[in-house]
Amino acid sequence: MKILLSNDDGYRAPGIVALYEAIKDLGEVDVVAPEHNNSAKSNALTLHSPLYVHEDANGFRYVNGTPADCVHVALTGLLGYRPDLVVSGINNGANMGDDTIYSGTVGAAMEGYLFGIPAIAFSQTQKGWAHLDDAARTARELVQSLLARSAQSQPWLLNVNIPNLSYEQIKPFKVCRLGRRHAAEKVVSQTSPHGETMYWIGGAGAAKDDAEGTDFHATVQGHVSVTPLKVDLTDHEGLALWAATLQAGR
Ligand code: MN
Repeated sequence: MKILLSNDDGYRAPGIVALYEAIKDLGEVDVVAPEHNNSAKSNALTLHSPLYVHEDANGFRYVNGTPADCVHVALTGLLGYRPDLVVSGINNGANMGDDTIYSGTVGAAMEGYLFGIPAIAFSQTQKGWAHLDDAARTARELVQSLLARSAQSQPWLLNVNIPNLSYEQIKPFKVCRLGRRHAAEKVVSQTSPHGETMYWIGGAGAAKDDAEGTDFHATVQGHVSVTPLKVDLTDHEGLALWAATLQAGR
């Protein structure tokens, strides 16, 4: 089994180091990850400046680009082979509900999925890396149980959030839908030393839909949320309404 491992927090982040250590004996694991923190870069690709790949002493390769850049470069020439699985994370903080739209952790996994390769994005629900080794051990179990399924003809994409709990406290995997968040907090403005107004994007909003069956609900209960994702953004329920609306117009 060949696994491509990436993340969005950067190749030195504790989350990717712990996940590498946890899964390295499951197959041939290659790390290609961003040089710097690229959280919230979603699926962005760098098209107007060159990308460079360097190798750290531990064998991790790092790229001066986004998470999607890393996976894209790896799959389109750098690796020289097609991995069986793309794994991303473990992210420093939750990627639940609307977070998945912005998440670079999900973006890296999604890039693999778009290339037809099964992919998993792992996040811890709280920032700060508490119980990271327990999360890595839990992630390993899921990777191991799904390796056999990676040979399926249809690729799949899973978004996984692991509560920051001890291994014994972590409850079983729970398949759930994404919840929803309230709108993000207000932008924070400050005055720069040069007298200009600067803006900091505010934090993510609290959960708005955390009903039973959502990732928010499962992780608060101590479960590991597992959400299968798809990429088609079409509003399928809206197709007929829009067709009727536009037909009436001309
Ligand atoms: Mn991140």
